[in-house]
Amino acid sequence: MTEDSIPQGPRPDVHILIVDDDATVRFLMNEFMETVGYQSHMAASGHEALELMQTRQVDVVITDIMMPGMDGLELTERIHGEYNCEIIVMTGYSGDYSYEEVINKGASDFVFKPVRFEELLLRLKRVLKERYLKEELRKLAITDDLTRLFNARHFYKQLELEVDRCTRYQHSLSLLLLDIDHFKDYNDSFGHLEGNYVLTWLGQAIQSCLRRMDTAYRYGGEEFTVILPETSGDEARTVAERISEGVRAKQFTPNADQPVSVTISVGVTEYQPDEALETFIKRADMAMFQSKQTGRNRITYLAAEPANKPKIVGQ
Ligand code: GH3
Ligand code: MG
Ligand code: MG
Repeated sequence: MTEDSIPQGPRPDVHILIVDDDATVRFLMNEFMETVGYQSHMAASGHEALELMQTRQVDVVITDIMMPGMDGLELTERIHGEYNCEIIVMTGYSGDYSYEEVINKGASDFVFKPVRFEELLLRLKRVLKERYLKEELRKLAITDDLTRLFNARHFYKQLELEVDRCTRYQHSLSLLLLDIDHFKDYNDSFGHLEGNYVLTWLGQAIQSCLRRMDTAYRYGGEEFTVILPETSGDEARTVAERISEGVRAKQFTPNADQPVSVTISVGVTEYQPDEALETFIKRADMAMFQSKQTGRNRITYLAAEPANKPKIVGQ
């Protein structure tokens, strides 16, 4: 990433929240923030700030430290534990709180009162730049380079979260495992770059068949997974059918004169209460393997043991 790609200067989509019990400071700072181009909001206490944050996305909180009731340190601690948001702490008494104390509570920076606006602006810009880079790094760490889907590392983390959620709320949860058929032959015939095009196209095709809460992952080379929260095995099978049909219908043209199609083998399964994550994944894998063994270009739904007789559909 180059310096040029980092958004510079004030952006109207950046929301700042100023928290100070002193109305004069609050209004002056609010006016300054709006003048330099940020969306600015105000709160007169820690409680008011937390209330506002429940309904509004805030990027940076700039809070006074000495406030009646909840002070700036406690507010910092509470925001840090609950929200993805940066905090700059202002204090009038340099001796009362150490820099370490404030940073250890989760603040990103610290300024002394009376605040010099030019200094605050510089600190704010640096905090925003760090926030942006942090977010880009976080995205990079969970994204597959080629397909732009999530990567395998994120799959395991997310599946664990979804299993917890479905156990807590007693929802259903299903998993798809998709693998391109004879993909080695495709690469051998048309080259690796054409193969990469198929992978990228398939990533988008899978994504286009999903709801907002569903997530798709590149699980391995030419293997994909889809986590379907609040989805029964039957519903998941319908999703798998939709994806498979889309793949079958697509004509690739690695050679201009000769359209080529590809097929996928899919395994579908539904989470069973209390089963281990590995058992769940393994069953999806077994289902996919059964699709391969029984001729490819099909979907196999595997119910949990002991009744895990394969049902083959969508041939
Ligand atoms: P099967 O129907 O049994 O799945 O056969 P297959 O050829 O698809 O499976 P196999 O596991 O033998 O080969 C997988 C192929 O996927 C081999 C490899 O070249 C290809 N592949 C894996 N990752 C990539 C990639 O990032 N780009 C391209 N172009 N090909 C890849
Ligand atoms: Mg494979
Ligand atoms: Mg394959």
